Amino acid sequence: MSHNTLRSAVRGRVLLPGDEAFDTARTPWNLNIDQPVAAVVHVEDAEDMAAVVGYARGAGLSVTAQPNGHGASGDTASAILVRTRRLDRIEVDPARRRARVGAGTNWGHVQAAAARHGLTGLAGSSPVVSVVGYTLGGGLSWFGRKYGWAADSVRAFDIVDADGRQARVTAESDPELFWALCGGGGDFALVTAVEFDLFAAPALFGGLIAWPAAQTEAVRAAFQDITDHAPAELTVWLNRLELPQAPPVIAIAAAYLGEPVRGRDLLRRLDTIDGILADTRRELSPAELGAIVNEPTAPGPGLLRTELLTALDETAADILLHAPIDPLMGIQLRQLGGALAEPTRGAAPPFAEPYALSLQATGSDPDTVAAVLATQKRIIADLGARVSGRKPYTVLSAGDSVAEVFDTGTLDRLRKLKQARDPHGVFRANFPILH
Ligand SMILES: Cc1cc2nc3c(=O)[nH]c(=O)nc-3n(C[C@H](O)[C@H](O)[C@H](O)COP(=O)(O)OP(=O)(O)OC[C@H]3O[C@@H](n4cnc5c(N)ncnc54)[C@H](O)[C@@H]3O)c2cc1C
Repeated sequence: MSHNTLRSAVRGRVLLPGDEAFDTARTPWNLNIDQPVAAVVHVEDAEDMAAVVGYARGAGLSVTAQPNGHGASGDTASAILVRTRRLDRIEVDPARRRARVGAGTNWGHVQAAAARHGLTGLAGSSPVVSVVGYTLGGGLSWFGRKYGWAADSVRAFDIVDADGRQARVTAESDPELFWALCGGGGDFALVTAVEFDLFAAPALFGGLIAWPAAQTEAVRAAFQDITDHAPAELTVWLNRLELPQAPPVIAIAAAYLGEPVRGRDLLRRLDTIDGILADTRRELSPAELGAIVNEPTAPGPGLLRTELLTALDETAADILLHAPIDPLMGIQLRQLGGALAEPTRGAAPPFAEPYALSLQATGSDPDTVAAVLATQKRIIADLGARVSGRKPYTVLSAGDSVAEVFDTGTLDRLRKLKQARDPHGVFRANFPILH
């Protein structure tokens, strides 16, 4: 089968090696990752997705779907890269508190649509992450401590299977595939749309407060006190920032799903710490979740590594908050717990660890990359057993494996399903279940 057959099989734009726009189209969000692919298809609709699957099977290729490529690992040789951005339909049913969104929809647009009805989805920190990519990997939300993993809020997936057939998958229609799609990653089907629950958000309070690094100890103590006593509606993150050409800063970011007065009260201890440099705390709309930490929305050469932390004791605080971290640019601790530690309905595992730890850096020149990797490795080694070795799927980075996400029972179950439903390996997730 020739590439011309692919062009004539789909309505969407097809880019092949040698085409002028091919390299731009295959480039993921993390510019440090090279994605060698056989073709890129900007699909127009579910029929296009089915046609790509049919073509790939006939040509002995695989298919990898990426709305934005935030989670790209580079493991894409001989794959057709499906870009889903044109599938951007959003339907909100306020009476049933449900949303149904296409596979190319980003959280920012969904949150804006839900907020009009005083509702929120289980969105994370970035408005430019897709609902489908995030949810297939579990999805760690600002509201996860209250409502659990985003994957657990799913009611139905519209899919294309490995034979190119379209289906609506629910817990009743196909329990095993539904279970796998709820957090098991993108190795089992092409998702064309997802339907999920929304939650009441009549009021929301949050923001970021920053101090000079000299206040690190006071801020750490307040962070631990607040997180130890936080209700499930409150989630608090600690950020150490060491940006080039800027004085070092320690900051707290928080979101409270409830009345602003109560949210302010839960964080009042922070007001007693002198030297506040910035304080963005205010009443927020669910559409403004991304404003809390204002993460970059443009591609860059990321060198992020995430681990789960079992304890923030004095030794961990010394390693993470006081010792030099150069050339890292930041350390972030996200509070977990609450419903995130409870059993789930799908493959997304619960995590009992109290904090997610991110070691943040950027850079692409070989010396910087080597220095960053060495520092991340050293910090993790110094933390010893305080790092659990497990992590949510959505925070995996190149070189990580699904064995860090799932226990062996879940992994075996996912692998059996992969072999049964996709025996020819048509679907290629960013972190394949069989590796
Ligand atoms: C700035 C930033 C902030 C983030 N914050 C959070 C956060 O708060 N919580 C959190 O959990 N994660 C977070 N993430 C991680 C993010 O959830 C993952 O990168 C995830 O992969 C979604 O990114 P994406 O939409 O670009 O998906 P992509 O990287 O494009 O896709 C990821 C994978 O999902 C699968 N997939 C995607 N679409 C389909 C489809 N239609 N059919 C089948 N499989 C599909 C594929 O296997 C694909 O490789 C963040 C990432 C960034 C860059």
